[in-house]
Amino acid sequence: MIEENVKRILAELPPGVILVAAAKTRTPDEIRRAVGAGVPVIGENYVQEAEAAFSVLGRIAQWHLIGHLQKNKVKRAVALFDMIETVDSLELGARIDRECTKLGRVMPVLVEINSGREPQKAGVLPEDAEDLVRGLAELEHIKVQGLMTMGPRTGDPEEARPYFQETKRLFDELAARGLDNVEMRYLSMGMSNTYKIAIEEGANMVRIGSAIFGERKEG
Ligand SMILES: *Cc1c(COP(=O)(O)O)cnc(C)c1O
Repeated sequence: MIEENVKRILAELPPGVILVAAAKTRTPDEIRRAVGAGVPVIGENYVQEAEAAFSVLGRIAQWHLIGHLQKNKVKRAVALFDMIETVDSLELGARIDRECTKLGRVMPVLVEINSGREPQKAGVLPEDAEDLVRGLAELEHIKVQGLMTMGPRTGDPEEARPYFQETKRLFDELAARGLDNVEMRYLSMGMSNTYKIAIEEGANMVRIGSAIFGERKEG
């Protein structure tokens, strides 16, 4: 089942679109099966849950943090993840930079955009993104590699399209700035019910959970 789902999704994705398996609530065995079927990136929402899976699986794939990062978990996150997709403040970026300096490594990050402008949601507002990217670009142990967005949760996947369009527009604008130490290489948007629309609007990284693993029991 998991294997068939992964193979079907991989076969549908256009070349160059990276599949991230959103692994929250899944067991290490389920994650291993998805990777065995060809998933290149495991996406985790919580540091603690990632550590538990990582202690069983190790570096069988890339590990991306796709959930909000609490400041007191930065040190542990930096030790585990290959990319942090959810940087939304200079303070968080500076903490990641500091921990990476100690380890002598550079962390690839995406800037999370609150494309729905939802007050309770993580992410930087689109109009504040350029200032944040310029600030992050000054940090030597962080490398901005693109943008990520969730968009509002909607019933109809079509309703997500304008938020993806706005995030792509921002991505292109930032790319056109040609800022030092900034790459606009990855645009991470789209989930199980919206990834096809996200790809039509320019996503080259999609984060898919339930279409791989089945419906979640909790959450
Ligand atoms: C859960 C989750 C996804 C995937 O959601 P599905 O609807 O299960 O595909 C993608 N991105 C983030 C940040 C998530 O938390």
